[in-house]
This record gives sequence, C-alpha cells and structure tokens, in this order.
Amino acid sequence: MGLLDGKVAIITGAGNGLGAAYARLFGAEGCKVLVNDLGGARDGSGGSIGPAQEVVNDIVAAGGEAVANGNDVSTMDGGQAIFDQCIAQWGKVDILINNAGILRDETFHKGTEANWDLVLKVHLKGTYCCTKPVWQWMRDNGGGIVVNTTSTSGLMGNFGQTNYGAAKAGIAGLTRNLAIEGRKYGIRVWGMSPGALTRMTSDLPRYRELAEKGDEFPVTGQPDTIAQAMLYMCSDLSGDQTGKFMHVARQGVAELKVMRSK
Ligand code: ADP
Repeated sequence: MGLLDGKVAIITGAGNGLGAAYARLFGAEGCKVLVNDLGGARDGSGGSIGPAQEVVNDIVAAGGEAVANGNDVSTMDGGQAIFDQCIAQWGKVDILINNAGILRDETFHKGTEANWDLVLKVHLKGTYCCTKPVWQWMRDNGGGIVVNTTSTSGLMGNFGQTNYGAAKAGIAGLTRNLAIEGRKYGIRVWGMSPGALTRMTSDLPRYRELAEKGDEFPVTGQPDTIAQAMLYMCSDLSGDQTGKFMHVARQGVAELKVMRSK
C-alpha cells in the first residue's frame, strides 16, 4: 500500500533535482506521474524530452507508472498540452506540482531586462499557465492539490536574486490567493520553499566555490528529504490543510545568506 495509491500527479521540471526526487518517490508510493521537463540546456531552453524520459524509466523499472512530457511550462499552449496529455493518459489529475525553474542571478544594477522577463516568465507565468487548465478540471471534479514552489529569496531576500525573488514572491501571493478561492471546491494549495542541493543551487557561485574546495554545502536538505515533505503535503497525511508554506532546510538557506554577505 502506497500513500498515493490510485492518484495521478503532474510534476513540472521533473527531469532533474527536486522534481525528479518528487517523481521517483511519488511513483514508489503508487502515484501515476506525468514527468514534465523541457530538458536540454541548463536554462531549460534546449527542448529535449531526454531528462524526463530517464526519470520515467526509473519509475517504471521500480514497478511504477509514469509518462514523459517535454512541453514548455511558460506558455499557455505548453500548460494546456501538459494537462491534455495527463487526461488522455489517465483521465484525471489529483496533484499538480509547479516545480520547473531557472536561475539568472545578477545584482539589480547590472541586471538585464531580458533576464528579468525570462525568470518571471518561467517561474510566475509558468505556474499560471500550468495551473490554469488543471484548476478548471479540479473545480469541476471535486478538488485536488496544487503545490507551488516559492523560495526564501521571495520571502526573505537573497543577494543577487532580485529577479528570482520577485518571481517567487509573486508565486507566494498567487498561492495564498488560490488557496482562498480553492477551498470551496476542495482544492488544497500549498507553497513549498525548499533549500536543497541540486543542479540549480550548485550553480550559485558560493556553492561552486565550496564544491571546488571540497567543503560541505551549507544547505542541509537533500532532494530526498524535501520529497518526503512534499509527500506529506500531497497525501492524506496533511488532512485538509491548505494555504500553508513548507520551509524545508530554511535554516540552511539563511546560513548561506549570511555566508554570502561576508
Ligand atoms: P531544482 O534546484 O529546482 O531542482 P533543476 O535545475 O535541477 O533545479 O531543475 C529544474 C528543472 O526545470 C530543469 O530540469 C529544467 O530543465 C526544468 N525547466 C526549466 N525551464 C523549464 C520550462 N520552461 N518548462 C519545463 N521545464 C523547465
């Protein structure tokens, strides 16, 4: 018996890092998973279904059920195609995890409009585009769970992340407001604020420096630990809780902030 037996989840940006950890754990807990990832280049602009397919292969090899999807989350067509594939495959969607993302860290005074637009588009608009069709379906079909990914950068601030922090603060606002609108329809909405060692965080200059020196990383949460918290949010374990934020390894990220300001 898995904690998510019979459930269907869409997980975006699940070809790597946290999304892949969520997908593998959910698959092992009996959930059917649509593994989305645009793949390719590190900025998500490459357009290859390869990373998503690899995660699908792992889930299937472990006895689970999953399907790969390579659409871009940041367009309405992409969000719709992700939803359509899920419905065509399994006829329903119980859980949506908006996890896809990119980083374009730069100080505000040197930052470019192009990076501002791109980061806002992938994170904030991407969350909108993927949630829109799923939301309508959940309203019409007795509810579900939506988890949006925010960040300490959006809630507390972090050096060099004005674009990312603005996008993440926007997602936090969207999450709170969606939770209020969703209550009536049985849709629970959570915010996940993870601090994990992944491909994305290891791109941060301070992390790279530490890695090169062979030092330990300052963030304590590993993707598998964060995935356990995600499982709690998306299963009956969390009862009827909604509109809440899970801060995993927040202390680690605060520590990173202090280190980077020195
Ligand atoms: P994290 O630290 O959040 O786990 P990763 O870079 O490991 O960061 O994972 C984020 C994933 O999101 C990547 O696999 C990337 O390809 C994916 N991604 C980025 N932009 C998009 C997009 N527009 N559509 C779908 N997936 C995307």
